[in-house]
Amino acid sequence: MKEIVDFLKVNRPDLQPMLEAWESIYSQKEEDEDLESKIEMTQVYENINNIPVHHFNDLNNKIANLEYLNNKMAYSLGACDKCLGENEDCTDCQGLGVPGYYKPDINLFKELVIPAIRQFKRTIKY
Ligand SMILES: [Zn+2]
Repeated sequence: MKEIVDFLKVNRPDLQPMLEAWESIYSQKEEDEDLESKIEMTQVYENINNIPVHHFNDLNNKIANLEYLNNKMAYSLGACDKCLGENEDCTDCQGLGVPGYYKPDINLFKELVIPAIRQFKRTIKY
């Protein structure tokens, strides 16, 4: 928009007063938006600071627990622990790490996969 205004200022001197008024309003609007943005970010920081630290610790613990369970499952299946072979952009496996791509962890396989197969055989009729 600034380029258009600059062009008009050069090529349409008759519009000069209107263009100057527009620039004045526009620059004030930008300052107001900057101020609003700063106020919003200040409120965000204040809100973050009001969240008790134990909530972040709880979240960290939940994330760590989920990561542990994810890795345990991936290793039991011999799958990529980053994507389970679902992401061809994965830096670890390039999407090849589907279950069985890697040698499964035999202890985790016995702990997680074999009981699932046994249960599956008991409950599913062919
Ligand atoms: Zn992967």
